[in-house]
Amino acid sequence: MIDNSTPGKDISLSDIQSKFPLASKKNHDHFSSFLIAGVQFGRGFCPVFAGPNMVESEKLIKDIAINVKNSGASFLRGGAFKPLTFPYRSTKYNESREKGIEWLDKAKSFAKIPVITEVMEEKFIPLISEVADILQIGTRNMQNYPLLTACAKTQKPIMLKRGFGCSLRDWLGAAEYLLIEGNKRIILCERGIVAPHTHRSSSRFLLDLQVVPAAQEFTHLPIITDPSHACFWRPWVSQLAKACVAVGSNGLMLEVHPDPPNAAVDPLQAINYLEFHDLMKDLKLIGEVCKTKVGT
Ligand code: PEP
Ligand code: MN
Repeated sequence: MIDNSTPGKDISLSDIQSKFPLASKKNHDHFSSFLIAGVQFGRGFCPVFAGPNMVESEKLIKDIAINVKNSGASFLRGGAFKPLTFPYRSTKYNESREKGIEWLDKAKSFAKIPVITEVMEEKFIPLISEVADILQIGTRNMQNYPLLTACAKTQKPIMLKRGFGCSLRDWLGAAEYLLIEGNKRIILCERGIVAPHTHRSSSRFLLDLQVVPAAQEFTHLPIITDPSHACFWRPWVSQLAKACVAVGSNGLMLEVHPDPPNAAVDPLQAINYLEFHDLMKDLKLIGEVCKTKVGT
């Protein structure tokens, strides 16, 4: 039932009270604050998750881990189990799966940096949980409720990407599925949405910057942003990342690869080491103005 207590919003008072009471803020200043692998999450912090789209080899992921860490990344990102849009595979365009998780583990110890990686199937949750410090639920699985419940039951921290066609209301409903399992370390991630004019060269997805303050109005959960997946275009990533920090993101996910055009997956969107290094310096300055600590 919709009531008029929050005029103009798609979230009503009855949603807050009975559909996602755990995800909803209890008062204006209610913001969750927690540690994951020693990294602080919550208001005033903007940890940076950086790394390749896919974990391609042990050598490459170790090199990326060291480089992003030295530039101030808080976590290494990288997919081993990938929701690839097309089913065909080649030597290069091929998920690294179990091997990738092993390589991620090696990179994690080598560079001493925590890791985040995607979970797509319930049967791989135990394997991935051994290595990942955060389980990533991708945009395509935001509403895969059995997967959400199974991930949440591990009590591992979870990053829930927004379904690209989903409202904030849908998203908070999905977060509630995680919270109801008693799991408190839940992070939301905006990664671009679809609109009638998207999926053209000017915008593959549209980064919804406005959802950051909107989410912070309704939920205490940290909300991070992923400009790389939203715009899918390397020349735009740094500018958008700066806007993400300026709008108040509680974290940032960025694709970084030493040789972006030759990345196995999504070669158009990764930035290189130097671009990442320079960007981190700018983001820290913007963070100072916005009273948020960016990266390590
Ligand atoms: C990713 O982060 O590697 C990914 C596949 O993202 P999304 O689910 O946002 O497409
Ligand atoms: Mn991708």
